[in-house]
Amino acid sequence: MSSNVRFTDFKSDAQPTWCPGCGDFGTMNGMMKALAETGNSPDETFVVAGIGCSGKIGTYMRSYALHGVHGRALPVGAGVKLANPDIEVMVAGGDGDGYSIGAGHFVHAVRRNIDMTYVVMDNRIYGLTKGQASPTSREDFETSTTPEGPQQPPVNPLALAFAASGTFIAQSFSTDAQRHAEIVKEAVEHDGFGFVNVFSPCVTFNDVDTYDYFRDSIVDLAETDHDPTDYEDARSRILDPGTEYQGILYREEDSVPYEESHGVDADMTDIPDGAPEDATDLVRE
Ligand code: SF4
Ligand code: MG
Repeated sequence: MSSNVRFTDFKSDAQPTWCPGCGDFGTMNGMMKALAETGNSPDETFVVAGIGCSGKIGTYMRSYALHGVHGRALPVGAGVKLANPDIEVMVAGGDGDGYSIGAGHFVHAVRRNIDMTYVVMDNRIYGLTKGQASPTSREDFETSTTPEGPQQPPVNPLALAFAASGTFIAQSFSTDAQRHAEIVKEAVEHDGFGFVNVFSPCVTFNDVDTYDYFRDSIVDLAETDHDPTDYEDARSRILDPGTEYQGILYREEDSVPYEESHGVDADMTDIPDGAPEDATDLVRE
């Protein structure tokens, strides 16, 4: 861990091609701030991203990074963490990437509880492919492929994580910079799988779930009597579809990460002499 890292150290030289005003800028800034404030440095951090506008983040941040295939960032992140438990792993994706094609990986990554962070830029639309309904789009959200709306209730990602025995379930708003960074920071510090669903508006294709909508709707749990360690309290808020909460919905105090409960403490990058050759021989036979 490094003590004098600034969040700008996590910025790469690449110029983001996100549309001006896209929520992903704020989401990324908060991630960089959270990493710096938890004492990580770019050379101790691995960012794995999927496909979509959100998937570009690994290019814009300075760290080890891998831009994976659609919906498959989480298993890659899990592999990185298990191969080198000392590295800070942050997986990023979008609502299409994470809750549609990647939904299976999401549920199993949550229940495995590996010590890593998953940040989802939830703009309730497919942005990169120019505005189709995503798993979190509203039932009546009209798009070119859903002219009368999807006519299905949106996926509730918090409930999915809760049902899969998630140990840290939170939600934030990308433009509420300080609060968003604080929440991601807590996810990074959590011993286990830290999941943050981030309202990250798409200013180009979603004219319903806008900055104004979220500003007017969000209820910050820090201003309520919510106790994130109270299972029943968390359950009732997570299953409340009418309220856009910001904050930590649920945190299991006794969470034990997979690495600890399964004794994965060896650094597999430290491969003993001869092992790779033996392994190659097996493949050749
Ligand atoms: Fe952001 Fe939407 Fe533009 Fe994609 S299309 S960069 S999500 S504003
Ligand atoms: Mg999306």
